[in-house]
This record gives sequence, structure tokens and C-alpha cells, in this order.
Amino acid sequence: MGFRGIVGHKRVIERLRFMAASQRVPHALLFVGPPGIGKKKTAFAFLQALNCERELGEGCGSCRCCERIERLTHPDVLLVSPDGGAIKIGQVREVISTLSLRPLEARWRAVVVDGAELMTKEAANAFLKTLEEPPPQVVIILVASRLDALPLTVSSRCQIVKFSPLRDEEVEEVLGRLGVEDRGLVALAEGSPGRALELGESREMEEMLQKALRGGIKEV
Ligand SMILES: [Zn+2]
Repeated sequence: MGFRGIVGHKRVIERLRFMAASQRVPHALLFVGPPGIGKKKTAFAFLQALNCERELGEGCGSCRCCERIERLTHPDVLLVSPDGGAIKIGQVREVISTLSLRPLEARWRAVVVDGAELMTKEAANAFLKTLEEPPPQVVIILVASRLDALPLTVSSRCQIVKFSPLRDEEVEEVLGRLGVEDRGLVALAEGSPGRALELGESREMEEMLQKALRGGIKEV
């Protein structure tokens, strides 16, 4: 994948590409923007660009390092997601202890915290010191859909990277890459391929239900 796998977000990518190529990276980044527009995907592309064995600053997507980052099997890259609707203090403690170790193979040890706005108050507090002063060669990427949903103590310790909804033709391209050709969905997506996919799924469910109901009625 690497940055070539990301549709849209041109200015964000330019900024991240520069960081990765120069290997000058803020300790903590906060990716903010509406759900379903590719923030998490971009975070992983960035980690590939940062660590790639062939194309530093871009991420080739196919070297051993890039492949393992993509498959989430890289020992130096950690993904934290909400557990039962929240990111709990135990998860944050685990992150902190993992980050305290030196990278095993990659240049950078990294953690992506998806749904960072769902950190409990205790979890956020436990994270503050590490966010401010992480060990060397560590990058922390928080991913959140709303800036105001995060405590200021957290967001103020991060460099904020704002993501905007995609243009319709970009949504269409993302859906096309996933094999979904549906103009109607693009119009309803409001710039979010994730939203389009959700709508598509619920519409499919509805159609199936309707069909099942019609079938049922026929049988009566
Ligand atoms: Zn690579």
C-alpha cells in the first residue's frame, strides 16, 4: 500500500511524506476528521513510509516491513481499538510498557490508537506522560473523529493533522477499488467511503428482508 494506496488527502499526505522522508517525526500525532474517510489507513501508510526497506518516505507496500505493517503482524507496530465501547486504562498501560522497549526491527516503534476519543478519563490520564515524553524512536498516532471529544490535556500534547471528507470522485474511486460500483451510494456518502459502505450494506439487508417477506407472503 504505502501512500500510493491512499485516495485523496493530498495535503495531509504531502506533510506526512516530508516527515517520513526526513525521519523527523513529532512524538505524538492526532489524526482528526469524520469517520470512514481513511484516517487509520493513512496512519498505517505513514508507518510504512517511515519504516520501508525500499522506498523511505513513500512505503513500497511490498517489502517485508511494509507487508507486515499492513497485515498487523509487525512486532514494532501496535494497534489499539476500543474494547466494549471504550479504551481502558489496562490497554493504555500495555501500550506504555510496549513503547518502553527499543524497536525490535523497524526504525520506529509505533502505536495507533483508533477511536482515541473513547479513552476513559483514567486511560487518558495514564497516557499523558508518555504522550509528552515518549521514549526515543517512538511515534504515537491517535485517531479520532472529533477534536472536541478529546481532553485538551491529550490533544495539546499532539501535533494535529486534520482530515476532510473526500470529493465525490474520490469516494467513487475508493469504492471502485473495493469493487463497488454504485453512483447512488456516492451521492449519499457525504465524502465518506466508510459511510457509503455502511449504507450499501444496510440497503442490501433491507432488500434481502423485503425479498424474504415477499417470499413469505407468496407461500401463505
Ligand atoms: Zn516497503
